[in-house]
Amino acid sequence: MTLSWGSSHLAVSMAGDLAGRSCAVIGGGVMGLSTARLLQLRGAKVTLYAAAFPPETTSDRSGAQWWPFSVVDPQRRTPEFVAQYIEAANYSFRRFQGLVGAEWGVKWVPNYYLSDDTPHNDWIGGPGGVLRNLQVGFQDFGPGEHVFPANYARRFYTMMIEPQTYLRTLLREVQAAGAQIQVRQFGSREELASLAETVVFNCTGLAAAELFGDMELIPIRGQLTVLLPQAEVNYNLISGPLYMFPRSDGIVLGGTYEKGRTEAIPDLAAKQRILQAHRVVFEKMRENQTKMGSSEQASR
Ligand SMILES: Cc1cc2nc3c(=O)[nH]c(=O)nc-3n(C[C@H](O)[C@H](O)[C@H](O)COP(=O)(O)OP(=O)(O)OC[C@H]3O[C@@H](n4cnc5c(N)ncnc54)[C@H](O)[C@@H]3O)c2cc1C
Repeated sequence: MTLSWGSSHLAVSMAGDLAGRSCAVIGGGVMGLSTARLLQLRGAKVTLYAAAFPPETTSDRSGAQWWPFSVVDPQRRTPEFVAQYIEAANYSFRRFQGLVGAEWGVKWVPNYYLSDDTPHNDWIGGPGGVLRNLQVGFQDFGPGEHVFPANYARRFYTMMIEPQTYLRTLLREVQAAGAQIQVRQFGSREELASLAETVVFNCTGLAAAELFGDMELIPIRGQLTVLLPQAEVNYNLISGPLYMFPRSDGIVLGGTYEKGRTEAIPDLAAKQRILQAHRVVFEKMRENQTKMGSSEQASR
């Protein structure tokens, strides 16, 4: 979700001048829709082919916090990759920034990353990180400076993208600009040769591994547990593998992060584990709030 506009921008730019040309986009998730829209903005005629469209894609199950983590393999970080990654992230950020509001389901929220050790600065974020410029309102809070159940809390603001609103609006916009929509499942790459369009964009997500022989593609399985919406919760909380994203359609809790797995069957034991771990975090936070409140009263 995060890199959608940026990755589409790289792909569309690579294809050169497509004004007036007919293009096929295979896939109706966030990548297919963003690619279709950028092609339209360059004057191309687009037909979107996909086995499924929103609300039935993986993109509809996304978190979706705007932050490009877990997409970089440090062992394979070439200068070319770094340049693409930075360009895609910055391009995406600017596009999403222009979509903030209820119509698109994009909003700004502070993220608090908890840690007992001093906050970790990595290649991407923190002082010296290549995307530090995109960590708005960055501040570290030390022991006693916050209510969270950890020694440190690192805060920065990012955008939250609510997939159901966002994808619906994007699909509507792409259709309104004249895209043809065809529900169609391709069984092999060879089938694509029968298409009338000669320029084809592969936006098939995990299916690209089989369909296009892209064996470097690594699936990562994630599972969300959704609580009733609570409008008063207005920040993201990330503590180790756990995350809590408050959305208008519910409080989204994660996280599982299983490399190499694709099955879309809920793991109920993981759900219980995630619920219980969040319960512990928020109970401790309430205790801290009570303690901080009473020491403030005592000092008055
Ligand atoms: C639980 C969870 C949490 C996540 N949280 C975040 C987050 O916080 N931030 C973030 O940035 N990302 C997050 N992601 C990742 C993000 O959602 C995905 O990387 C992104 O949505 C993938 O989009 P896509 O368009 O490439 O693929 P998909 O949404 O999977 O779309 C693929 C499209 O291709 C079509 N297709 C596939 N095979 C064929 C075929 N043979 N013929 C025709 N059509 C085909 C499908 O029908 C579909 O339309 C999360 C993902 C999950 C599961």
